Amino acid sequence: MKNNIIAIDGHSSCGKSTLAKRLAAHFGFRYIDTGAMYRAVTHFALENKLIDSEKIDISKLKNLIENNALVIDFQYNSETGRSETLLNGENIENEIRSSHTSDFVSRIATLDFVRTYLVKQQQLMGKDGKLVMDGRDITTVVFPNADVKIFLTASIEVRAERRYKELIAKGEVISFDEVRDNLALRDHIDSTRDVTPLTIAPDAVVLDNSNLTVDGTFKKALEIIKR
Ligand code: C5P
Repeated sequence: MKNNIIAIDGHSSCGKSTLAKRLAAHFGFRYIDTGAMYRAVTHFALENKLIDSEKIDISKLKNLIENNALVIDFQYNSETGRSETLLNGENIENEIRSSHTSDFVSRIATLDFVRTYLVKQQQLMGKDGKLVMDGRDITTVVFPNADVKIFLTASIEVRAERRYKELIAKGEVISFDEVRDNLALRDHIDSTRDVTPLTIAPDAVVLDNSNLTVDGTFKKALEIIKR
């Protein structure tokens, strides 16, 4: 590998972060979940009542971001073996994974100033390489020169089933249809937004894991990387 960057994009809940974590552990690289960064901004906007189902207070959010009111970090939790998201020093890992945050995040991700701010941070995180990063614009915008580019996807039914099980296991009260509708809506907003929509980079390898296990997806990704 030249720059030691593995970039993974794809639809919501298709196992990008599971794959990215496995690859990072395998190669001894750092893993960055950029979805967590968009979720952290969304959590901040919700907490500060800057977003509701009707509108977003764009000028206030922009002003706060420009004045560094939001500092996003990751911290390794040795007990869980997971990297957790911090917002201004506070651990918000559980809050950002809720379906409430999921309901708002793709609207926040359409804002150009949010994207510019986060993309700059993501590029800084990757300046020394040795990184696996996943998201929606990593192969196209953040690291267009990444050594490896994978576009991961799976059918909407399979993705909804996996996400539904995850949320139920966490104790959320939600129906399968609500989960599927949220995924379909996020896919739609992500793929049709004006600013850097989710697209398949021409040099990315598409990996559909609808019929693959976590291990099977990892093996296929290793084959792609070796190629
Ligand atoms: O990956 P995850 O599902 O946690 O991402 C949450 C949302 O953040 C996505 O639905 C998308 O709207 C947004 N996102 C993005 N660009 C990224 C990562 C996430 O627009 N690089």
